[in-house]
Amino acid sequence: MEISERTRTLGTENAFVVLAEVNRLCAEGKDIVNFCIGQPDFDTPEHIKEAAIKAIKAGKTGYTPSQGILQLREAIADYLSETRKIDVKPEWVVVANGAKPFIGYVILSVTDYGRGHEVLYPNPGFPIYESQIRAHGAVPVPLNLREENGYEIDLKDLEDKLNERSRLLILNSPHNPTGAVYSRRYLEQIAEIVKRYENLWIFSDEIYSKIIYEGEFASIASIPEMQERTIIVDGVSKAYAMTGWRIGFAANEKLAKHLSRWITNTDSCAAHPNQYAALAALTGPQDDTRRMVEVFRRRRDLIVDGLNSVEGINCLKPSGAFYVWPNVTEACRLIGAEDSEEFRRRLLYDAGVAVLSDIHFGQKIEGEHLRFSYATSDENIIEGVRRLRDYISENMR
Ligand code: PMP
Repeated sequence: MEISERTRTLGTENAFVVLAEVNRLCAEGKDIVNFCIGQPDFDTPEHIKEAAIKAIKAGKTGYTPSQGILQLREAIADYLSETRKIDVKPEWVVVANGAKPFIGYVILSVTDYGRGHEVLYPNPGFPIYESQIRAHGAVPVPLNLREENGYEIDLKDLEDKLNERSRLLILNSPHNPTGAVYSRRYLEQIAEIVKRYENLWIFSDEIYSKIIYEGEFASIASIPEMQERTIIVDGVSKAYAMTGWRIGFAANEKLAKHLSRWITNTDSCAAHPNQYAALAALTGPQDDTRRMVEVFRRRRDLIVDGLNSVEGINCLKPSGAFYVWPNVTEACRLIGAEDSEEFRRRLLYDAGVAVLSDIHFGQKIEGEHLRFSYATSDENIIEGVRRLRDYISENMR
Protein backbone atom coordinates (compact mmCIF):
# COMPACT_ATOMS: atom_id res chain seq x y z
CA MET A 1 0.00 0.00 0.00
CA GLU A 2 1.55 3.28 -1.10
CA ILE A 3 1.51 6.72 0.39
CA SER A 4 1.25 9.50 -2.19
CA GLU A 5 4.37 11.47 -3.04
CA ARG A 6 2.46 14.64 -2.17
CA THR A 7 1.98 13.32 1.36
CA ARG A 8 5.44 11.81 1.73
CA THR A 9 7.03 15.13 0.84
CA LEU A 10 4.54 17.32 2.73
CA GLY A 11 6.24 19.94 4.89
CA THR A 12 5.30 20.68 8.45
CA GLU A 13 5.42 23.29 11.17
CA ASN A 14 8.41 22.19 13.19
CA ALA A 15 7.26 24.21 16.18
CA PHE A 16 4.77 21.38 16.75
CA VAL A 17 7.47 18.71 16.34
CA VAL A 18 9.93 20.42 18.69
CA LEU A 19 7.12 21.10 21.14
CA ALA A 20 6.36 17.35 21.26
CA GLU A 21 10.08 16.75 21.97
CA VAL A 22 10.06 19.39 24.73
CA ASN A 23 6.90 17.93 26.26
CA ARG A 24 8.47 14.46 26.26
CA LEU A 25 11.58 15.78 28.05
CA CYS A 26 9.41 17.67 30.56
CA ALA A 27 7.38 14.51 31.20
CA GLU A 28 10.70 12.74 31.95
CA GLY A 29 11.28 15.36 34.62
CA LYS A 30 13.76 17.61 32.77
CA ASP A 31 13.70 21.27 33.70
CA ILE A 32 13.29 23.23 30.46
CA VAL A 33 12.74 26.92 29.79
CA ASN A 34 10.51 26.94 26.73
CA PHE A 35 10.78 29.65 24.05
CA CYS A 36 9.16 27.59 21.26
CA ILE A 37 5.53 28.41 21.70
CA GLY A 38 3.89 30.64 19.11
CA GLN A 39 0.90 31.56 21.19
CA PRO A 40 0.12 34.04 23.97
CA ASP A 41 0.67 32.56 27.43
CA PHE A 42 -2.50 34.32 28.65
CA ASP A 43 -5.92 32.85 29.22
CA THR A 44 -8.81 33.81 26.92
CA PRO A 45 -10.61 36.81 28.50
CA GLU A 46 -13.59 35.87 30.66
CA HIS A 47 -16.29 37.70 28.66
CA ILE A 48 -15.28 35.74 25.55
CA LYS A 49 -15.57 32.41 27.36
CA GLU A 50 -18.96 33.49 28.72
CA ALA A 51 -20.19 34.30 25.20
CA ALA A 52 -19.27 30.80 24.02
CA ILE A 53 -20.98 29.16 27.01
CA LYS A 54 -24.07 31.26 26.39
CA ALA A 55 -24.07 30.24 22.72
CA ILE A 56 -23.80 26.56 23.59
CA LYS A 57 -26.64 26.84 26.10
CA ALA A 58 -28.77 28.67 23.53
CA GLY A 59 -28.33 25.74 21.14
CA LYS A 60 -25.92 27.40 18.71
CA THR A 61 -24.42 23.99 18.04
CA GLY A 62 -25.39 23.04 14.49
CA TYR A 63 -23.80 23.82 11.13
CA THR A 64 -23.58 27.45 10.09
CA PRO A 65 -23.30 28.74 6.51
CA SER A 66 -19.80 27.86 5.21
CA GLN A 67 -19.03 31.57 4.98
CA GLY A 68 -19.73 32.07 8.71
CA ILE A 69 -22.65 33.58 10.68
CA LEU A 70 -23.80 36.98 9.42
CA GLN A 71 -23.41 38.71 12.81
CA LEU A 72 -19.74 37.75 12.98
CA ARG A 73 -19.10 38.70 9.34
CA GLU A 74 -20.68 42.10 10.02
CA ALA A 75 -18.39 42.58 13.04
CA ILE A 76 -15.35 41.51 11.01
CA ALA A 77 -16.30 43.87 8.16
CA ASP A 78 -16.58 46.74 10.68
CA TYR A 79 -13.28 45.78 12.33
CA LEU A 80 -11.40 45.57 9.01
CA SER A 81 -12.99 48.75 7.64
CA GLU A 82 -12.03 50.70 10.74
CA THR A 83 -8.51 49.36 11.30
CA ARG A 84 -7.49 49.30 7.59
CA LYS A 85 -9.39 52.49 6.71
CA ILE A 86 -11.12 50.85 3.76
CA ASP A 87 -14.66 49.75 3.01
CA VAL A 88 -15.19 46.03 3.64
CA LYS A 89 -18.65 44.49 3.23
CA PRO A 90 -19.88 41.46 5.21
CA GLU A 91 -20.44 39.60 1.88
CA TRP A 92 -16.69 39.77 1.19
CA VAL A 93 -15.78 38.15 4.51
CA VAL A 94 -15.25 34.42 5.08
CA VAL A 95 -14.75 32.74 8.46
CA ALA A 96 -12.70 29.55 8.91
CA ASN A 97 -11.19 27.37 11.63
CA GLY A 98 -8.20 29.67 12.15
CA ALA A 99 -6.24 31.88 9.77
CA LYS A 100 -4.09 28.96 8.66
CA PRO A 101 -6.63 27.15 6.43
CA PHE A 102 -6.80 30.25 4.19
CA ILE A 103 -3.21 29.68 3.11
CA GLY A 104 -4.24 26.49 1.31
CA TYR A 105 -7.66 27.76 0.18
CA VAL A 106 -6.18 30.87 -1.41
CA ILE A 107 -3.41 28.94 -3.19
CA LEU A 108 -6.06 26.50 -4.47
CA SER A 109 -8.26 29.39 -5.59
CA VAL A 110 -5.66 31.29 -7.63
CA THR A 111 -3.25 28.63 -8.99
CA ASP A 112 -3.68 25.40 -10.96
CA TYR A 113 -1.83 22.18 -10.21
CA GLY A 114 1.30 21.62 -12.29
CA ARG A 115 0.77 24.60 -14.58
CA GLY A 116 3.90 26.46 -13.45
CA HIS A 117 1.98 29.10 -11.49
CA GLU A 118 4.42 30.79 -9.14
CA VAL A 119 3.81 31.85 -5.54
CA LEU A 120 6.28 34.25 -3.92
CA TYR A 121 6.70 34.03 -0.17
CA PRO A 122 8.99 35.39 2.56
CA ASN A 123 12.06 33.36 3.55
CA PRO A 124 12.55 32.98 6.47
CA GLY A 125 8.82 32.71 6.97
CA PHE A 126 5.92 30.73 8.35
CA PRO A 127 6.78 27.23 7.05
CA ILE A 128 3.22 26.35 6.04
CA TYR A 129 3.39 28.78 3.09
CA GLU A 130 6.02 26.71 1.29
CA SER A 131 4.53 23.34 2.18
CA GLN A 132 1.06 24.37 0.96
CA ILE A 133 2.46 25.89 -2.26
CA ARG A 134 4.21 22.58 -3.03
CA ALA A 135 1.32 20.36 -1.94
CA HIS A 136 -1.03 22.18 -4.29
CA GLY A 137 1.31 21.89 -7.26
CA ALA A 138 2.37 25.52 -7.58
CA VAL A 139 5.97 26.71 -7.81
CA PRO A 140 7.49 28.16 -4.61
CA VAL A 141 9.59 31.30 -5.16
CA PRO A 142 11.29 32.44 -1.93
CA LEU A 143 11.93 36.13 -1.28
CA ASN A 144 15.01 36.21 0.91
CA LEU A 145 14.85 38.54 3.90
CA ARG A 146 18.13 39.94 5.13
CA GLU A 147 19.19 41.38 8.44
CA GLU A 148 20.74 44.47 6.80
CA ASN A 149 17.29 45.33 5.36
CA GLY A 150 15.60 44.90 8.73
CA TYR A 151 14.08 41.70 7.28
CA GLU A 152 12.00 43.54 4.71
CA ILE A 153 11.61 42.03 1.24
CA ASP A 154 14.29 43.43 -1.06
CA LEU A 155 12.36 45.38 -3.70
CA LYS A 156 14.90 44.68 -6.44
CA ASP A 157 14.66 40.95 -5.67
CA LEU A 158 10.85 41.21 -5.86
CA GLU A 159 11.07 42.96 -9.24
CA ASP A 160 13.48 40.34 -10.55
CA LYS A 161 11.35 37.40 -9.44
CA LEU A 162 7.97 38.60 -10.67
CA ASN A 163 6.91 37.53 -14.16
CA GLU A 164 3.82 36.52 -16.13
CA ARG A 165 3.66 33.16 -14.32
CA SER A 166 3.47 34.82 -10.87
CA ARG A 167 -0.02 34.32 -9.42
CA LEU A 168 0.31 35.11 -5.73
CA LEU A 169 2.54 37.20 -3.47
CA ILE A 170 2.43 36.33 0.23
CA LEU A 171 3.17 39.18 2.63
CA ASN A 172 3.31 38.80 6.41
CA SER A 173 3.56 41.85 8.65
CA PRO A 174 4.16 41.79 11.60
CA HIS A 175 6.38 38.93 10.57
CA ASN A 176 6.92 35.48 12.00
CA PRO A 177 9.79 34.72 12.77
CA THR A 178 11.63 38.09 12.70
CA GLY A 179 9.03 40.47 14.19
CA ALA A 180 9.57 42.94 11.31
CA VAL A 181 6.72 45.38 10.61
CA TYR A 182 6.18 46.95 7.18
CA SER A 183 5.49 50.68 7.08
CA ARG A 184 2.86 52.21 4.80
CA ARG A 185 5.63 53.91 2.81
CA TYR A 186 7.32 50.55 2.19
CA LEU A 187 4.02 48.88 1.24
CA GLU A 188 3.44 51.70 -1.27
CA GLN A 189 6.71 50.75 -2.93
CA ILE A 190 5.63 47.10 -3.10
CA ALA A 191 2.29 48.24 -4.58
CA GLU A 192 4.08 50.19 -7.32
CA ILE A 193 5.80 46.97 -8.44
CA VAL A 194 2.75 44.72 -8.03
CA LYS A 195 0.57 47.04 -10.16
CA ARG A 196 2.50 46.01 -13.28
CA TYR A 197 1.07 42.49 -13.06
CA GLU A 198 -2.60 42.12 -13.85
CA ASN A 199 -2.94 38.53 -12.61
CA LEU A 200 -1.07 38.85 -9.34
CA TRP A 201 -3.01 38.38 -6.10
CA ILE A 202 -1.68 39.33 -2.68
CA PHE A 203 -2.18 37.16 0.39
CA SER A 204 -1.67 39.56 3.28
CA ASP A 205 -1.17 37.54 6.46
CA GLU A 206 -2.07 40.07 9.16
CA ILE A 207 -2.58 37.64 12.06
CA TYR A 208 -0.26 39.74 14.30
CA SER A 209 -1.81 43.10 13.30
CA LYS A 210 -2.74 44.03 16.88
CA ILE A 211 0.61 43.04 18.38
CA ILE A 212 2.66 46.06 17.46
CA TYR A 213 4.99 48.23 19.58
CA GLU A 214 6.19 51.05 17.35
CA GLY A 215 4.33 53.00 14.73
CA GLU A 216 0.99 52.00 13.31
CA PHE A 217 -0.06 48.80 11.65
CA ALA A 218 -0.42 49.21 7.87
CA SER A 219 -2.12 46.85 5.42
CA ILE A 220 -1.32 46.79 1.72
CA ALA A 221 -5.10 46.64 1.17
CA SER A 222 -5.23 50.30 2.31
CA ILE A 223 -3.02 51.46 -0.57
CA PRO A 224 -5.00 52.75 -3.58
CA GLU A 225 -5.80 50.07 -6.19
CA MET A 226 -4.58 47.25 -3.94
CA GLN A 227 -7.74 46.16 -2.11
CA GLU A 228 -9.27 44.35 -5.07
CA ARG A 229 -6.31 42.00 -5.45
CA THR A 230 -5.54 41.60 -1.73
CA ILE A 231 -6.89 38.83 0.45
CA ILE A 232 -6.67 40.21 3.98
CA VAL A 233 -6.22 37.40 6.50
CA ASP A 234 -6.51 37.99 10.23
CA GLY A 235 -8.12 36.26 13.20
CA VAL A 236 -8.63 36.15 16.93
CA SER A 237 -5.91 33.58 17.75
CA LYS A 238 -3.08 35.89 18.74
CA ALA A 239 -4.86 39.15 19.59
CA TYR A 240 -7.28 37.60 22.11
CA ALA A 241 -5.28 34.58 23.32
CA MET A 242 -7.63 32.24 21.43
CA THR A 243 -5.33 29.92 19.45
CA GLY A 244 -7.25 26.78 20.43
CA TRP A 245 -10.64 28.22 19.54
CA ARG A 246 -9.72 28.10 15.85
CA ILE A 247 -11.37 31.16 14.38
CA GLY A 248 -9.75 33.15 11.57
CA PHE A 249 -11.12 35.20 8.70
CA ALA A 250 -10.34 36.48 5.22
CA ALA A 251 -11.76 39.34 3.18
CA ASN A 252 -11.81 39.79 -0.58
CA GLU A 253 -14.76 40.75 -2.77
CA LYS A 254 -14.03 38.42 -5.67
CA LEU A 255 -12.68 35.41 -3.80
CA ALA A 256 -15.19 35.20 -0.92
CA LYS A 257 -17.58 32.84 -2.69
CA HIS A 258 -14.76 30.60 -3.91
CA LEU A 259 -13.16 30.39 -0.47
CA SER A 260 -16.59 29.52 0.97
CA ARG A 261 -16.94 26.68 -1.55
CA TRP A 262 -13.59 25.29 -0.46
CA ILE A 263 -14.87 25.35 3.11
CA THR A 264 -18.05 23.52 2.04
CA ASN A 265 -15.69 20.90 0.56
CA THR A 266 -13.60 20.54 3.71
CA ASP A 267 -14.71 21.71 7.17
CA SER A 268 -18.32 22.67 6.23
CA CYS A 269 -18.05 25.66 8.57
CA ALA A 270 -16.08 27.06 11.49
CA ALA A 271 -17.13 25.76 14.94
CA HIS A 272 -20.50 27.37 15.66
CA PRO A 273 -20.20 28.42 19.35
CA ASN A 274 -16.66 29.64 18.71
CA GLN A 275 -17.98 32.07 16.13
CA TYR A 276 -19.96 33.70 18.96
CA ALA A 277 -16.78 33.80 21.05
CA ALA A 278 -15.00 35.60 18.19
CA LEU A 279 -17.94 38.00 17.93
CA ALA A 280 -17.56 38.85 21.62
CA ALA A 281 -13.80 39.29 21.14
CA LEU A 282 -14.19 41.79 18.29
CA THR A 283 -17.13 43.74 19.68
CA GLY A 284 -16.39 43.58 23.44
CA PRO A 285 -13.90 45.53 25.58
CA GLN A 286 -10.38 45.67 24.17
CA ASP A 287 -8.50 46.28 27.45
CA ASP A 288 -7.24 42.70 27.76
CA THR A 289 -5.56 42.92 24.34
CA ARG A 290 -4.03 46.30 25.17
CA ARG A 291 -2.69 44.93 28.47
CA MET A 292 -1.27 41.85 26.77
CA VAL A 293 0.54 43.97 24.17
CA GLU A 294 2.06 46.13 26.94
CA VAL A 295 3.32 42.99 28.69
CA PHE A 296 4.80 41.71 25.40
CA ARG A 297 6.51 45.07 24.87
CA ARG A 298 8.20 44.85 28.25
CA ARG A 299 9.27 41.27 27.61
CA ARG A 300 10.61 42.19 24.18
CA ASP A 301 12.89 44.79 25.76
CA LEU A 302 13.93 42.30 28.43
CA ILE A 303 14.82 39.53 25.99
CA VAL A 304 16.52 41.80 23.42
CA ASP A 305 18.71 43.44 26.09
CA GLY A 306 19.38 40.06 27.67
CA LEU A 307 20.40 38.37 24.41
CA ASN A 308 22.57 41.30 23.33
CA SER A 309 24.47 41.05 26.62
CA VAL A 310 25.51 37.47 25.75
CA GLU A 311 28.83 37.04 23.95
CA GLY A 312 28.39 35.93 20.32
CA ILE A 313 24.73 36.92 20.05
CA ASN A 314 23.36 39.89 18.18
CA CYS A 315 19.64 40.64 18.26
CA LEU A 316 17.66 43.35 16.42
CA LYS A 317 14.72 44.88 18.29
CA PRO A 318 11.54 43.89 16.44
CA SER A 319 8.50 46.18 16.23
CA GLY A 320 5.77 43.53 16.30
CA ALA A 321 4.60 39.93 16.98
CA PHE A 322 6.23 38.12 19.93
CA TYR A 323 9.37 36.67 18.39
CA VAL A 324 13.04 37.60 18.23
CA TRP A 325 15.44 36.25 15.63
CA PRO A 326 18.96 36.72 17.00
CA ASN A 327 22.03 36.17 14.85
CA VAL A 328 24.03 33.45 16.64
CA THR A 329 26.76 32.89 14.03
CA GLU A 330 29.52 33.97 16.42
CA ALA A 331 28.05 31.99 19.34
CA CYS A 332 28.09 28.84 17.17
CA ARG A 333 31.75 29.48 16.35
CA LEU A 334 32.62 30.08 20.01
CA ILE A 335 31.21 26.74 21.18
CA GLY A 336 32.14 24.75 18.05
CA ALA A 337 28.55 24.14 16.90
CA GLU A 338 28.41 23.46 13.18
CA ASP A 339 25.18 25.40 12.68
CA SER A 340 22.11 26.83 14.41
CA GLU A 341 20.41 23.41 14.46
CA GLU A 342 23.29 21.81 16.36
CA PHE A 343 23.24 24.82 18.70
CA ARG A 344 19.47 24.41 19.19
CA ARG A 345 19.85 20.71 20.06
CA ARG A 346 22.69 21.36 22.47
CA LEU A 347 20.71 24.13 24.14
CA LEU A 348 17.72 21.82 24.57
CA TYR A 349 19.57 18.76 25.86
CA ASP A 350 22.54 20.31 27.68
CA ALA A 351 21.28 23.70 28.85
CA GLY A 352 17.52 23.11 29.24
CA VAL A 353 16.54 25.92 26.86
CA ALA A 354 14.05 25.17 24.07
CA VAL A 355 14.11 27.35 20.94
CA LEU A 356 13.60 26.83 17.20
CA SER A 357 16.37 27.20 14.62
CA ASP A 358 16.39 28.91 11.21
CA ILE A 359 16.04 25.61 9.32
CA HIS A 360 12.48 25.44 10.70
CA PHE A 361 11.59 28.59 8.73
CA GLY A 362 12.88 27.85 5.24
CA GLN A 363 16.16 27.86 3.34
CA LYS A 364 19.10 29.30 5.21
CA ILE A 365 20.29 32.59 3.70
CA GLU A 366 23.35 33.87 5.52
CA GLY A 367 24.44 33.48 9.10
CA GLU A 368 22.94 31.31 11.83
CA HIS A 369 19.73 32.31 13.59
CA LEU A 370 17.45 31.03 16.32
CA ARG A 371 13.85 31.96 17.03
CA PHE A 372 12.77 32.77 20.57
CA SER A 373 9.09 33.30 21.32
CA TYR A 374 8.82 35.68 24.28
CA ALA A 375 5.22 34.69 24.98
CA THR A 376 6.50 33.50 28.35
CA SER A 377 7.06 34.99 31.79
CA ASP A 378 9.75 37.54 32.76
CA GLU A 379 11.20 34.90 35.11
CA ASN A 380 11.55 32.44 32.25
CA ILE A 381 13.18 35.05 30.04
CA ILE A 382 15.70 35.96 32.76
CA GLU A 383 16.43 32.31 33.55
CA GLY A 384 16.63 31.31 29.87
CA VAL A 385 19.10 34.07 29.06
CA ARG A 386 21.16 33.15 32.14
CA ARG A 387 21.35 29.50 31.03
CA LEU A 388 22.32 30.57 27.51
CA ARG A 389 25.08 32.86 28.82
CA ASP A 390 26.43 30.21 31.18
CA TYR A 391 26.31 27.53 28.48
CA ILE A 392 28.33 29.63 26.03
CA SER A 393 30.93 30.73 28.57
CA GLU A 394 31.37 27.16 29.89
CA ASN A 395 31.64 25.60 26.44
CA MET A 396 33.97 27.98 24.61
CA ARG A 397 36.57 26.27 22.52
N1 PMP B 1 0.17 32.99 9.98
C1 PMP B 1 1.26 33.13 10.74
C2 PMP B 1 2.36 33.99 10.26
C3 PMP B 1 1.34 32.50 11.99
O1 PMP B 1 2.44 32.64 12.75
C4 PMP B 1 0.26 31.69 12.42
C5 PMP B 1 0.26 30.97 13.75
N2 PMP B 1 1.48 30.55 14.25
C6 PMP B 1 -0.85 31.55 11.58
C7 PMP B 1 -0.86 32.22 10.38
C8 PMP B 1 -2.00 30.68 11.95
O2 PMP B 1 -2.94 31.30 12.74
P1 PMP B 1 -4.20 30.49 13.29
O3 PMP B 1 -3.79 29.85 14.58
O4 PMP B 1 -5.28 31.51 13.47
O5 PMP B 1 -4.59 29.48 12.27
